[in-house]
Amino acid sequence: MGQREMSGKAIIGIDLGTTNSLVAAFGPDGPTLIPNALGEVMTPSAVGYGDDGAILVGRPARDRLLTHPELTTARFKRYMGTHHEVVLGKKGFRPEELSSLLLRSLRADAETHLGHPVEEAVISVPAYFNDVQRKATITAAEFAGLKVNRLVNEPTAAALAYGLQDREAESTFLVVDLGGGTFDVSILEMFSGVMEVRASAGDAFLGGEDFTDALAAELGRQLDLQPKDTSREEGARLRSLANRLKHQLSEKAEATADYVIKGEGRAVSITREKFEEITDDLLKRMRMPIQRAISDASLRADDLHRIITVGGATRMQAVRNLITRLFKRFPEHSIDPDHVVALGAAVQAGLAARHAALDDVVMTDVCPFTLGYEVSVPLGPNRWEAGHFAPLIERNTVVPASRANDISPVEQNQREINLVIYQGESPFVRENVRIGTLRVPLPADIKADKTVEVRYTYDTSGILEVEATPAATKKTQRMVIEGTPGSMTRADIDKRLKELTALKIHPRDEQENAAIIARLRAAYENSLGDHRQYIGQLIAQFEAVLHTHDKRNIQDARTQIGEILNQFGNEDVF
Ligand code: ADP
Ligand code: MG
Repeated sequence: MGQREMSGKAIIGIDLGTTNSLVAAFGPDGPTLIPNALGEVMTPSAVGYGDDGAILVGRPARDRLLTHPELTTARFKRYMGTHHEVVLGKKGFRPEELSSLLLRSLRADAETHLGHPVEEAVISVPAYFNDVQRKATITAAEFAGLKVNRLVNEPTAAALAYGLQDREAESTFLVVDLGGGTFDVSILEMFSGVMEVRASAGDAFLGGEDFTDALAAELGRQLDLQPKDTSREEGARLRSLANRLKHQLSEKAEATADYVIKGEGRAVSITREKFEEITDDLLKRMRMPIQRAISDASLRADDLHRIITVGGATRMQAVRNLITRLFKRFPEHSIDPDHVVALGAAVQAGLAARHAALDDVVMTDVCPFTLGYEVSVPLGPNRWEAGHFAPLIERNTVVPASRANDISPVEQNQREINLVIYQGESPFVRENVRIGTLRVPLPADIKADKTVEVRYTYDTSGILEVEATPAATKKTQRMVIEGTPGSMTRADIDKRLKELTALKIHPRDEQENAAIIARLRAAYENSLGDHRQYIGQLIAQFEAVLHTHDKRNIQDARTQIGEILNQFGNEDVF
């Protein structure tokens, strides 16, 4: 692996995915992916404790989901922006903390590869991530010792990676990104090197994993497994089987596998037709955001020049068929859908570092949702109804954007106004996302004019800042948003940062050993009879070799066992 110097500041690009995460850097040859300690560019977004009590990240952790479910976790990106804690062993982890362990590992991979410290990153987030989720991502980076140069929307990153290939062309892109947990649609325009986002829409609760869940439920029915007496381990095994079959169905019309249940081998099979039948409602949910993005951009389907698919789940035939049907042409996927977001994040990092190769490229982005606040509307004389939403910055406004409005108290002697900030598209605040409350003090001494100008500013990362200026004093104050559901206070952050620093992380150079053991254990659980006995012997042999502490021997054993496991080819993928 060649090490190369970056020009200017070293800023890395990170795709922090629900399922897999990747890191890339912008160098003289454009954006390149950086391999992890196992030599792979995709690091599964999984974290857990190893047998020695040290933290494992990536593939070894993912492979232990099956054998050590109480010590291992994945898919925590779904909890970003909430207080949901995942308990590993005896300790509870916030989603920011789990993400930070992943980021720390990616950062170490980048530092090893580039040969110098890395302290700054561009991190991609789903376009539909709200303010709280974006702030949680920035906190995760802080926990990992990384300064966020910018958060870039994932589809924007994807279009940047594609746009760079052919930057003279004028084109309108539609990017469809179906990842593990989220669905995003964006429309972007590129003309003479300027990339502009025209619209974005999505569904924060729709992803490839939902297809896996639907299939797991179907397999459970086939195998007569009652959900209530299915253990956590059994459930995890069934999901991993479903995932394996789902992947097979992207290649062929029928998928089959053996499944061990109560010590007995059973053959299961599923046709693509059946799969599409049980996931029909999920497919239907993809249409709405696509249509909304197109109408928000004031375009028709025919106006789109390029249809790009991103995210592992767009490999499913049914998804490709849906897109082909909607647009009457095949989607493009010349850049690997698994790599494209990280490559685009690295392009954004190159732009931020003012890389000479990107002189003629400019990037603008839009805010993906409307920000406003709660108001009461008059229903008649002295009758007011609360709970209505007043938009301040509307969705698809180019960022950075700044808008202001005057607010005034309803009562005579009011000393402050409580402004409740919401984000969303519904006219009723109860259907939107509450971002937090702003307490705007009113000047006591000035009776005549108690109006306050409230200004919202969306920065380029999609993060909200609020300022308040009383008309009487004209003194602008930066306001702190309080009581934000799901977000951490500064004191929380400092406390958790200390705890995190004390955690023992599995040494990078031993990760390959941990990964082989995790693979062997998973293969052991999934097999029966002679096969199982043979894997048991391999585990014992490998542990004996590890005790010799002979690097050469250990490496040889790893290679050998890796080859044997590859031959079995029946591994679990999550
Ligand atoms: P994220 O961005 O959320 O990390 P990815 O883009 O890595 O997600 O996509 C992960 C999802 O794609 C998972 O649900 C995975 O099962 C699914 N996936 C990956 N490869 C395939 C395939 N060949 N066929 C069907 N689904 C796939
Ligand atoms: Mg993704």
